[in-house]
Amino acid sequence: MIPGTMRAMVLERPGEPLRPSTRPLPAPGPGQALIRVAACAVCRTDLHVVDGELPDPALPLIPGHEIVGHVVAHGDGGGRHPIGSRVGVPWLGRTCGHCSFCRSGAENLCPSARFTGYTLDGGYAEYTVADELFCFALPSAYDDVHAAPLLCAGLIGHRAYRMALDHPFGGAIESVGLYGFGAAAHLIAQLAVAEGRRVLAFTRAGDVAAQQHARDLGASWSGDADRQAPQPLDAALIFAPVGALLPRALAALRPGGKVICAGIHMSDIPAFPYRLLWQERSIRSVANLTRADGDDFLDQAGRVPLRVDTTSYPLIRANEALDDLRQGRLQGAAVLLP
Ligand SMILES: [Zn+2]
Ligand SMILES: [Zn+2]
Repeated sequence: MIPGTMRAMVLERPGEPLRPSTRPLPAPGPGQALIRVAACAVCRTDLHVVDGELPDPALPLIPGHEIVGHVVAHGDGGGRHPIGSRVGVPWLGRTCGHCSFCRSGAENLCPSARFTGYTLDGGYAEYTVADELFCFALPSAYDDVHAAPLLCAGLIGHRAYRMALDHPFGGAIESVGLYGFGAAAHLIAQLAVAEGRRVLAFTRAGDVAAQQHARDLGASWSGDADRQAPQPLDAALIFAPVGALLPRALAALRPGGKVICAGIHMSDIPAFPYRLLWQERSIRSVANLTRADGDDFLDQAGRVPLRVDTTSYPLIRANEALDDLRQGRLQGAAVLLP
């Protein structure tokens, strides 16, 4: 029995707490599925949306873009994912399919793209609708709670990681610095270690719990981000939304090394001397994901068993989960359960 209404946590105005609401059940449009949400992980991007740091939320908005659920109905032309099947709904909700970006494998940059939990309603709810073409099948080794963080922390973290490896030194990348050791870094650290690389984890000053967490997951070194790196890095990934980390990461890179900024928002980057960039060091940002990224990462996550550390909250306590993330009180990922 599919009910006529659902409970959801709704952002009415940025800067205010989410409000528990009862909403009519969304109707799946052409090519869409209606999905009963089993779990929705909380991403740092959700914080940026809720805190008003991103410009275009479709208010009133149901946040959440790391959704695991089961298909319960289809719109016209639907059925790619059968009734009852488990799907993951990621940040990239829809693209135009015909612009130069979409046609060249860069649908993540499509100017008409819509994003789950930002410009489309997301998964902080009992049900959601999603375009079936943008939903993923999920590896069966992960239950719903542990699959949810794969959908952004894992997936976009993986895009950033792959970008760092695409490098003048190619396979010779031995040391990878991770700045900010939260949901994304704890997954990417495991992939890097499984590939035989050395992981160095840089956390906010004095965060001994995150530093221990990093070492538990195979990091060979962890410490405060304001300390000097113990060795030159071949690549650095910045997951924390802190612009001041960028010159620090550059200063830790060996010649030809690359800094990848993996977040959607960052505080201003302080001025730095050109010598930090000199010798072919480079800086790139990662935006969104492509479906090919998702297929690639989820295939890898099916083969390399990742330990996904989560803290679960009932949906009604979404504000508490966001606050714990904001204050750095979590190890791994927060997951909401409707
Ligand atoms: Zn496009
Ligand atoms: Zn995200």
